[in-house]
Amino acid sequence: MAKPINRLSGEEIELVRESSLLVGKTLAEVGRVIAPGVTTGELDRLAETFIRDSGGIPGFKGLYGCPSTVLVSVNEEVVHGLPGKRVLKEGDVASVDCGVLMNGFYGDSAYTFMVGEVAPEVQALLAVTKECLALGIAQAVANQRTGDIGFAIQRHAEAHGYGVVRELVGHGVGRKLHEAPEVPNYGRRGHGARLTEGMVIAIEPMITMGAKDVRQLEDGWTVVTRDGSPSAHFEHTIAIGHGKAEVLSTFSYIEDVLKERGMAVV
Ligand code: MG
Ligand code: MG
Repeated sequence: MAKPINRLSGEEIELVRESSLLVGKTLAEVGRVIAPGVTTGELDRLAETFIRDSGGIPGFKGLYGCPSTVLVSVNEEVVHGLPGKRVLKEGDVASVDCGVLMNGFYGDSAYTFMVGEVAPEVQALLAVTKECLALGIAQAVANQRTGDIGFAIQRHAEAHGYGVVRELVGHGVGRKLHEAPEVPNYGRRGHGARLTEGMVIAIEPMITMGAKDVRQLEDGWTVVTRDGSPSAHFEHTIAIGHGKAEVLSTFSYIEDVLKERGMAVV
């Protein structure tokens, strides 16, 4: 039987928004320093300090045994890359996923950063993945179903010849980081859980430049593409509304910082 889906009150949704905005500000701090020569471990330390200084709790650290505040997945790493000694280099793309727990509610968001000058075909992968997220969000309204979100994402990604990862999916967000329903990035129109007002979900397309197949590394965490092709990941936490989804997380802090630094924004 499917797990029950929680619906949040307006006040509770505002608490998810506060946590989600702190995730966006944290990712902006990452965006302030990300550059060739920086290690993924440095990004993790600054994220943890920033969240705690802002009155939040790192949402991932300790959950399912996760050792870090952010997960940093570089190039062929899709998600769940463990930060550490890896040094970012010119031309890399780094997907940084972050969660915050504050006032009893989680926020969850991810952004794929370009490190220095990135190949045009990889920039295109990032742009299309971000478009997939927007198309998924456009379907996230009352009386639609999770399959409508997945269908919109899958159709756009596959129209560009990209792969849609099947093993990892979006999810409900609330008092727990991962709640029902599952929100796959593929699917059939009119199938899956029905969306109703007050549901809060994370939509998070994970799109590969090559085949969709992934495997997990021996660290028990990092998920990589089997064919070694690069991958991108953008995620927002949103509330289901009538006619329009309410996006609770934001990329605007991140992109303001990238523009300040004179960096390209996909
Ligand atoms: Mg996430
Ligand atoms: Mg998530």
